[in-house]
This record gives sequence, C-alpha cells and structure tokens, in this order.
Amino acid sequence: MSKSERSIETNAVHGAGFIKSLTGAVSTPIYQSATFKHRELGVSTGYDYSRLSNPTRDELEKTVALLEGGKDALAFASGMTAVSNLFAIFKPGDHIVISDDIYGGTYRYIEEVLKEYGIAADYVDTTDLQAVKAAIKANTKTIFIETPSNPLMKVTDISAVSEISKEWGLLTIVDNTFLTPYLQRPLDLGADIVVHSGTKFLGGHNDTLAGFIVAKDDKIIERLKRIQKTLGGVLAPFDSWLILRGIKTLAIRMDKQESNTEAIAKWLKTHKKVEAVYYPGFEDYPGHEIMKKQSSGFGAMLSFTVDSEDTVKRILKEVKLVSFAESLGGVETLITYPFVQTHGDVPEEVKESGGITKRLLRLSVGIEKAEDLISDLQQALG
Ligand SMILES: *Cc1c(COP(=O)(O)O)cnc(C)c1O
Repeated sequence: MSKSERSIETNAVHGAGFIKSLTGAVSTPIYQSATFKHRELGVSTGYDYSRLSNPTRDELEKTVALLEGGKDALAFASGMTAVSNLFAIFKPGDHIVISDDIYGGTYRYIEEVLKEYGIAADYVDTTDLQAVKAAIKANTKTIFIETPSNPLMKVTDISAVSEISKEWGLLTIVDNTFLTPYLQRPLDLGADIVVHSGTKFLGGHNDTLAGFIVAKDDKIIERLKRIQKTLGGVLAPFDSWLILRGIKTLAIRMDKQESNTEAIAKWLKTHKKVEAVYYPGFEDYPGHEIMKKQSSGFGAMLSFTVDSEDTVKRILKEVKLVSFAESLGGVETLITYPFVQTHGDVPEEVKESGGITKRLLRLSVGIEKAEDLISDLQQALG
C-alpha cells in the first residue's frame, strides 16, 4: 500500500518516514547542524546549509505535503512567514481578491507591506460567488480564502471558488489553519496552494510557532523554494521536531476537540446572556451544507456574542480553567477577544460592519473534559 493510499490517521503517526527508512529511528532525530560537510568537489550528501534544507525539516515538509495531498511543502518560522513568503510570488501591479473575514495578521501584512510595494487587494465576502466574480480585474492573480473564516466562521465553497479561478487563470490559495488536512484537503477540491499557521492545530500544544505552504505544481514549488532560501525564514530543527511530534496525535486531538466544541456550542445557545453562536456544525447555520460537502468535520473553533461589554469583561476576568489568551488549536482551551487581540489592527468601522463587535468572543476548544469546560464558562458568564 503506498503512503498516499493510507489513511491520514496513519500517515500523521508515521510521517513521510524518510529518515526512518535510512536509519531506523522511530522518532525523527533533530539535526541541529547549520552546515554539512562535502567529501569533495561536486560530491554532497544532498545537504549543504540549513537555510536551504535540513533533514529534520525535510521530514516535516514531506509529512505535511503527504497529509495535504501536495507535491511538496515548505516549513517556515511562523504562519506569517509562510504568508509573506507566499505573497512574494506576486509583483507590483498585481491584484489580489481576498476573504473579508481574514486573519488579522494577513490583513495587516497586505495593508502595511504589500500595498506599499504596489500590490493591490480587494476584500470580498467569498461566501458570495457573484461578489468574487465581480471583484476580478484584468490584473488579478489570485483568490485567497480562509474557510471557515476567523473569527466569524463564514464558510466559502472551495470547489466553486477554484472553478472561478480556473476560468480566469488565477491561483486559488486556501488558509487551512482552522481545519487541517485531517478535516479538509483544499488541494483535492481544486485549490492550487494551501497555507498554514502550524502554530495552531498541526503543532497542537501551544508551544511553538510554525508555518507551511503546500502546493501541487512543480513550477510554483521551485519558485517558493527559491524565495524561502533567499528570505531565510525557515523553521528550526528543534521546532520542526516539535511539530512532527504534535502531528502524530493530530487525529485524536481533533476528534476530541471537535466533540467538545459541539457540546459547548449547544450549551452556549441555551444561555440567556448569549445572543448568537457562530458554529458551522449547527444544521441551520449558513454554509453548514457546503461544509458537510467539503470537510469531514466542523472543527474546534466557535465564536459567540454576549449581551453586553460588561459580560465580556466579566468572562475574561472570571474564567479559571479556560485561558484568556491569543492563539488557537492547542490542547488547552483558550478564549480570545478578537476586537482588541487578533483583529486589533483592523479599523473599527471595518470590524463593526463585518460583525467583529465589542461583544464578540472566540473560543478555541481543547481536549479537557467538556463538562469541566462548560462549568467554568457557566461560572464566568454568571
Ligand atoms: C495564527 C494564524 C496565522 C498566522 O500564524 P502565526 O503562526 O501566528 O504567524 C495565519 N492564519 C490564520 C488563520 C491563523 O490563525
């Protein structure tokens, strides 16, 4: 059975296994070496210098490529390093169509860096395919989507957007951080490139930053490898090992986090101080059917609005088991206040009009016992 025929649960545990095939090491060794010796001129082990490639990082890159169904992957020092390296394939005069409910750091990168370099972007509600088509211009190069989106959990149809891209000769890029390849494989659905913050569910332990780009086209991979080698924002050997170790338990973590999320979403919906729960697992949620078609689960993220800013303050002060902290995807449950944290640099009117209000909270659900999490939220909500 080839690796690509095996289930993702199995591949997550065993990884690409290329070092194991050479040395037998069950746990990938950490090749903590900046440089590699050559035997003579023109004779190399394949390794020269760790900015170009490193065996531990190679094992991780090959593993992530295997999980996403890509030809190859590149590992970076953070999700934002992956995003910024990816955008380096565009040039002044190019135009990007991007989801309006996007990760705050990606928004800041476009607004503060790309626009200064002459790359234009329009933010559209990519759940609306007519709006996506209407935003395409003669110089558009890509449609960049996040689904479900952050923090409003809006669901974009990946296949439908990929069809539009193909028609216009554009690249479809999907930020797959929220679901990971265990629950959603954008490349199988027609996307060209997947980008990740590996800091989140892939790493899964809130202990290290990482980022990935996965692609299926050789030319794109070659271009990105040149950019990675030139900009140098690579993932260190030890951090590569931490992410490899995290990925081994991806499937069981995601299963537990998902079932906890469903339980909390249902409970929140019944609370008198909770006005709305953004959770795509609800049958009447917009995008629920699309998500059922393109994903094998609803993930472990949800957002909710409460009756007042006082309630927000109370919850953030009173939670004991749940940590009031930025980030997501780890085994520990975290609560985030998008208005001032993840989306702090998005202008107020943009946030408010999009639904990121001062009464919105985001929850990243961990692997604790669901009942314990609910009772903590219960006492914090009051
Ligand atoms: C966190 C995050 C990023 C940025 O990743 P870092 O590892 O924090 O640099 C990008 N996209 C999404 C959806 C994220 O959640």
